[in-house]
Amino acid sequence: MSNTVNANTVTTHQPTITLDRAKAAPIPVLEVFGPTVQGEGMVIGRKTMFVRTAGCDYHCSWCDSAFTWDGSAKDQIRRLSATDIWQELKSIGGERFSHVTLSGGNPALLPQLGALITLLRSQGIATAVETQGSRWQEWLYDIDEVTLSPKPPSSGMTTNWEVLDDIVTRLTNRKMAGESKSTTNVSITTSAKKSEDESVRLYAGACSLKVVIFDDTDLAYARTIHERYPHIPLFLQTGNPDVNTENTGQIAESLLHRYEWLIDRVMDDSRLNDVRVLPQLHTLVWGNKRGV
Ligand code: SF4
Repeated sequence: MSNTVNANTVTTHQPTITLDRAKAAPIPVLEVFGPTVQGEGMVIGRKTMFVRTAGCDYHCSWCDSAFTWDGSAKDQIRRLSATDIWQELKSIGGERFSHVTLSGGNPALLPQLGALITLLRSQGIATAVETQGSRWQEWLYDIDEVTLSPKPPSSGMTTNWEVLDDIVTRLTNRKMAGESKSTTNVSITTSAKKSEDESVRLYAGACSLKVVIFDDTDLAYARTIHERYPHIPLFLQTGNPDVNTENTGQIAESLLHRYEWLIDRVMDDSRLNDVRVLPQLHTLVWGNKRGV
């Protein structure tokens, strides 16, 4: 599956025509759903629609969305235009949403998502994305809330620090340069219909880091992240060790124990005084159910 969205075909060294073709390609989509609440990171609790894209360049040991890259849902992948996706969002969500989250997989494999983000912005819809920070796309500049979620050692993945440094630097510069830009965004959004929605104003052009924590080795990795990027808000979140069980009550109990453990560890650590500690909200409510 990942071959279909391999961003290795899109680098700054490729001929422009290749990049243009990639930007115009249909978007591989696995799920469009909502409105629901965002369950993770800086936008936790935010009412949002989700667009889940197919394909990931990682294969984390505890991935809770492995169907996006392991081939098990390849028959469910639809290749949609930005307009198709917008129409589906409106068909499902009607007037009940003002925010769309792009999730995966790794949405940052897809240069063609730029067209969707442009379309959503033109409709006054705020956007968020979560990506592990392994690939850069120009459209990241235009996302209201970017969550970079580098993967800790328990995932089995290795962080490319050079790439992550570059992405953090670009987004940090965007945030500083974007104060006037975000003001423009807010005025578009508020004039459209959302003057009551202060969260768009608060988070416009924001960037955060999120690390999923399973054990002390992961916590040490999170400290490394925090020391390397002290200017970026860091969210620590409990991981879900059982992504296959359908027993929601059992998962919730296990996750709350893990949350308590993580809180205790962070409270004892003076190097983590500025972090925020979160549970994985949607898993507490819905367990491993998809499309909620
Ligand atoms: S980066 Fe995310 S979607 Fe990709 S394998 Fe890891 S957890 Fe799964």
